[in-house]
Amino acid sequence: MTKAPYNSIMKSTHTPRKRFGQNFLQDAGVIAQIANAIHPQPGEHLVEIGPGQGALTASLIRRDIRLNVVELDRDLASGLLAAFSIYPGFKLHSADALSFDFGALADDGVPLRVVGNLPYNISTPLLFRLFEFAPVVQDMHFMLQLEVVNRLAAAPGSKHWGRLGIMAQYHCEVEHLFDVPPEAFYPPPKVQSAIVRLSPHRRSPWPECDEGALRRLVQSSFAQRRKTLRNNLKGILADSDLEQLGIDPGARAETLELVDFIRLTNHLSSA
Ligand code: SAH
Repeated sequence: MTKAPYNSIMKSTHTPRKRFGQNFLQDAGVIAQIANAIHPQPGEHLVEIGPGQGALTASLIRRDIRLNVVELDRDLASGLLAAFSIYPGFKLHSADALSFDFGALADDGVPLRVVGNLPYNISTPLLFRLFEFAPVVQDMHFMLQLEVVNRLAAAPGSKHWGRLGIMAQYHCEVEHLFDVPPEAFYPPPKVQSAIVRLSPHRRSPWPECDEGALRRLVQSSFAQRRKTLRNNLKGILADSDLEQLGIDPGARAETLELVDFIRLTNHLSSA
């Protein structure tokens, strides 16, 4: 396999930092595959989380798009500015993506296309944070550990089906695009990785459902995976409520579909 040196964009001598989840992409073929999946078009507004040394940034940037990047490691800022400031639509935010206000970027009404080879150590809270901005997002393409992509794209009844997949599928259509081996990174992570596309529903299929109430119900339902719904939902929903909706109180949460959780949430909200 031919490998582009990981620092080819910024000629940097940066030592990868574990605490920032730094695994830099170095495989030119994989980088091109990701850029192809995203395929930026003139006038679009991209947001990259954790550009690092710009491997993905360089393959996405063009003069006729906006590209905001959010990078926590300040040591990488000067390299990013040196490499990309010549592009009129480029802007660097030295900030933590977990508390960053992505909504403020959508100031011109153009929906955001969010991308990133995400730091794996914060990927779950970051995904939940990003779901909050779904109304201003066109789509999201992320590199994540394969395990997390399996959970995002899970089907009911499978061992991967749980809180993350249910909330992701409530907000978005989820597509598991392709897998990426550890050798594509420097340093190589200990796990397999994959690229996922999340496309927020243009209009919610469940406009009457309260998102916060759904989140709390799902959390309770899966509190103890091996226990029955009756047990996990004690004090929240009675057997008769479940039975009224045709749901077996003796079943486990992982056997329920997204629409079942939505029906239960709506039932709770209307009680
Ligand atoms: N996109 C680059 C780097 C991926 S490594 C590449 O593919 O080569 C993950 C990147 O996320 C690193 O640059 C790391 O510094 C950055 N990062 C880690 N935590 C972050 C946070 N909370 N907010 C923004 N960026 C973060």
